[in-house]
Amino acid sequence: MDNKLKNLLFNNGVRLKKAYGQNFLTDESLLAEIAEKAGIESTDAVLEIGCGAGALTKALSERAGKVVGYEIDERLKPVLKETLKDCGNVTLEFKDIMKETPQNLKRLLGEQYKIVANLPYYITTPVIMKFLENADGVLSMTVMVQEEVAERFAARAGDSDYGAITVGINLRGSAEIVMRVGREKFFPVPNVDSAVVRIDIDKDKFKGTDLAAVRETVKAAFSGRRKTLENNLINAMGLRRETAKKCIEDCGFSPLCRGETLSAEDFVLLTEKIKEARNG
Ligand code: SAM
Repeated sequence: MDNKLKNLLFNNGVRLKKAYGQNFLTDESLLAEIAEKAGIESTDAVLEIGCGAGALTKALSERAGKVVGYEIDERLKPVLKETLKDCGNVTLEFKDIMKETPQNLKRLLGEQYKIVANLPYYITTPVIMKFLENADGVLSMTVMVQEEVAERFAARAGDSDYGAITVGINLRGSAEIVMRVGREKFFPVPNVDSAVVRIDIDKDKFKGTDLAAVRETVKAAFSGRRKTLENNLINAMGLRRETAKKCIEDCGFSPLCRGETLSAEDFVLLTEKIKEARNG
């Protein structure tokens, strides 16, 4: 394993914290490849979540116009200062990204930006949902996550990995696995392999649709994993059985179907039918 990183951490008295998901990368060609797969260009503003010891930050800084990096752990300040000493286009924020506002992100990054992150496992889904739901300026999110989570993000309707988060992604864009990364590439070595997923946001997808209402339907449809869509709509949305049945039939879905088989388009249609039924 990379002694330079170990020495850098040791010299600054930093012992890595599992609770923050601190598994760091050091392989420079791998880090350059992540920046390349993220499609980072010299005019781009990039938001990096969780800079760690700054290896990915440095690779991003070499390609991007500017990088704004968030790191929750202030102990890493001197480490990042050393790693990024030649990176004039990097700004660091020692904050919890989950507490950051869209206004502040806009102030620091501008109207449009790309996200790149080797995400801490414990906040993978909340981070993705935060940026899918609340940040208009996001063009894409290229994130390193646990391999199983990557499969879920990029699943197709009907796949065993398909879930509410998959639909959430497909309501705003599309996801693709662009790299697989073995656990041995990290320090310390975690007990799972990882993959990099690129989520491209299409601002015009489902333009004019009440996505908050669609998300409510999605949440209900996945509330009981092995239950039929009809039963989940009844239990989680308080619909009467006849209403749930009619909405499903009006969409042309099988009466016994489950949420796992519906695409994002299907959920948009179903939400319209539910709205009509509730208003009528
Ligand atoms: N980017 C580095 C790399 O690729 O080697 C580090 C990645 S490490 C998996 C995740 C980093 O996110 C850690 O440094 C951790 O301290 C930081 N982190 C964890 N929770 C965070 C949060 N809520 N906001 C910002 N950073 C966070």
